[in-house]
Amino acid sequence: MSDFTQTVGLDTEKILPIRFEGNYKPSTDSPLISVVTPAHNEEGNVRRFYTEVSQSLNQITDSWEIIFVNDGSTDNSAELMRQLHDEDPRCKAVIFSRNYGFQIAIAAGLRASSGKAVIVMDADLQHPPELIPVMVEKWKEGFHVVNTVRTGYGDKVGFVKKFTSAAFYKVMNAVSEVPIIPGACDFRLMDRVVVDILSRLPEQTPFFRALIRWLGFKQTSIPCTVNARQAGVPSLTFKKMLVLAVDGMVSFSTRPLRWIMYIGFFVTALVIPYGIWALIDHFIYNATVPGWTSLLILNMLLGGTMLVSLGIIGEYIGRIYNQVKGRPLFTVEELCGIEKNLNNQTTVGHSWDKTSEEQKLKREAV
Ligand code: UDP
Ligand code: MG
Repeated sequence: MSDFTQTVGLDTEKILPIRFEGNYKPSTDSPLISVVTPAHNEEGNVRRFYTEVSQSLNQITDSWEIIFVNDGSTDNSAELMRQLHDEDPRCKAVIFSRNYGFQIAIAAGLRASSGKAVIVMDADLQHPPELIPVMVEKWKEGFHVVNTVRTGYGDKVGFVKKFTSAAFYKVMNAVSEVPIIPGACDFRLMDRVVVDILSRLPEQTPFFRALIRWLGFKQTSIPCTVNARQAGVPSLTFKKMLVLAVDGMVSFSTRPLRWIMYIGFFVTALVIPYGIWALIDHFIYNATVPGWTSLLILNMLLGGTMLVSLGIIGEYIGRIYNQVKGRPLFTVEELCGIEKNLNNQTTVGHSWDKTSEEQKLKREAV
């Protein structure tokens, strides 16, 4: 066990309910720090990211690795990652066969990492590398997770981004059963124990901001000012953010299903007095024709509620369907400097290697 692991008092065997199986073996030559970076069309940032982040890391140790996850970039990002790997083998890359989204890219990077602490940060340098030593200090103090909370934005971050982000956290926290701190970003340090548990979760739609809260352990947060991106344009379009928001809500709550029931009760409760009134209108006042407007409104109200309800139920059924299919979370085209088999771990945790190992033994025995 390393000095750092001893400092934070972690005994993996005691903390994990499941023992390590398969191809991850805590090894003495694993680096102290891994930096995991999802990147989609970041050719303008990749080299600069390497330079700035390696400077920060070098202040702490030279035992580090940077793992870029190229999430189906259509620009020159992958080539730059290969070049960087040739120049410095500590710089590694997982190259996806297509775009899978940045949460899945983070999942792949976590599986590929072997550092005793793993830091996840964006490739566009919006997450300040100067905070890395601060995070590592907190880790040394004994925290398993060091989150960052955005306290402000750099000058060039637009109003729309600020507004949609604020709205996202409001809605998310109203719906979700696992609260997220407003402004929590995907810039965090995690201890190896936490990374191993996260890597073994069978989530098909991982949403790390909430997963990390759900997980527990000793966590802390440090403030962080998010800079404007260094080069290129954001890949997280409004549409992608919306998908992420729905994923986050549905994955962490069954409350919307309950809301459907409440809406159903409410609408039914409205229909009862209205029905009584309609009957009185018919039998006592003999005036049924003028009911058209109210019928139309009721009809629309019921139709709308039912469509919304079906949509919400559909979201959950879709999740169940995806989970049941058990497809791998991502497909990898190329690995630079990474020897683990990420692809086959995806749905069966770490057991793939164990099985293949067992099969090999069986074959040898024949
Ligand atoms: N990203 C990714 N796949 C995507 C979209 C984004 O890997 O489909 C990466 C992107 O390269 C960046 C991080 O995720 O490193 C955050 O994305 P972006 O900067 O576009 O989002 P924003 O900072 O505007 O929220
Ligand atoms: Mg960004």
